[in-house]
Amino acid sequence: MTIFILNSPEKLPPTQKLWIDEPYQTECEATVLHTQDDLLVTDRTIFYAESGGQVPDKGFIDDVAIIDVQKQPGKPIYINRPDVEVPMVQIDTVVVHKLDSPSPFIVGQKVHMKIDWDYRYKLMRYHSATHFVLHALEEIYGHQEKLYIKGCYIYEQSARLDYANKLNPELIPKVSTLANNLIAQGDEILMESDPSTKDISYWRYGDIIIPCGGTHVSSAKEVGAVSLKRKSHGKNLDRIYISLC
Ligand SMILES: [Zn+2]
Repeated sequence: MTIFILNSPEKLPPTQKLWIDEPYQTECEATVLHTQDDLLVTDRTIFYAESGGQVPDKGFIDDVAIIDVQKQPGKPIYINRPDVEVPMVQIDTVVVHKLDSPSPFIVGQKVHMKIDWDYRYKLMRYHSATHFVLHALEEIYGHQEKLYIKGCYIYEQSARLDYANKLNPELIPKVSTLANNLIAQGDEILMESDPSTKDISYWRYGDIIIPCGGTHVSSAKEVGAVSLKRKSHGKNLDRIYISLC
């Protein structure tokens, strides 16, 4: 993850992130608040900024291609919730778009944003699939030992979960079956904002709750089915590779 260095970022208000409430929206209008070199900040955005393992969106602002989208650090917030472990989250962040050429925009200008929807939709399917696998891994292994997740990576053609544990390979088919059974129920996937801030959301499927600020499909029917592979990379790293069938 890159942090783009902005001049006077403290003068910029938090960006309104339209993907939180409307993950299926593909276009919007916005107003330019700041521009320098190949960087652009607007009052609102439809572009998902890299976080939670999900890579940033691609697309266009007017006719200029967007090649990276990152959040500037905001304020850390800690949520205490008895039923779910919530990691520290940065709220009130400013979203910075990186253009593929020097910015032609000026402050105050109205612009049109359009994301690469095929790309985003694959990321939404993979992100939801990853949550089903994450839950299944906890169910199958987590009762025997505490699982230590080291990383989560969601791309448009695969996803990966990294653990510091040694995951018995004989149990992987059980994880796969459990994840696919849950997906096959075909129920609604809900995203609920924390009462304290819109910047923290919870992914909910029945009684499964996972804190997440990513973009997701609204039904398990859209996920399809997962296939899993485990690879061990030495003593402290096992990787679970997720593919959608
Ligand atoms: Zn997530």
